[in-house]
Amino acid sequence: MDELDNIQVEGNIPYRGYYMPKDEAGKAVDIRRVKPRTNQHCTDCKLCVSVCPMGSINNEDVAMLKGICIKCGACIKKCPANAKYYDNEDYLRHKHELEVAFCHRKEPQLFI
Ligand code: SF4
Ligand code: SF4
Repeated sequence: MDELDNIQVEGNIPYRGYYMPKDEAGKAVDIRRVKPRTNQHCTDCKLCVSVCPMGSINNEDVAMLKGICIKCGACIKKCPANAKYYDNEDYLRHKHELEVAFCHRKEPQLFI
């Protein structure tokens, strides 16, 4: 028998494979095109343009994206007017699921 067969590794078993966000009915949804929206409180300060790590927010119209959004949330967190937000229900459900499932700190473990 291979030695590796006897190694017990703790964690979230069964391990979750590649995760696809799901809708209320459990059907996989594609959130790749989800992007933050901009409300009327925007003062056009352009801070979101400078903090977006993808350089995706249009400088001429900050409500528009010129590139992809990786859902990092930087523009939402940094906006001084709270003008950026997500409204996509599937994405918000996915975000909530992650917040609930991974709210507890995990200590690092070493396997030698
Ligand atoms: S950071 Fe907020 S207020 Fe400033 S331009 Fe962007 S959305 Fe508008
Ligand atoms: S969430 Fe991140 S990647 Fe998407 S537009 Fe905002 S700053 Fe850019």
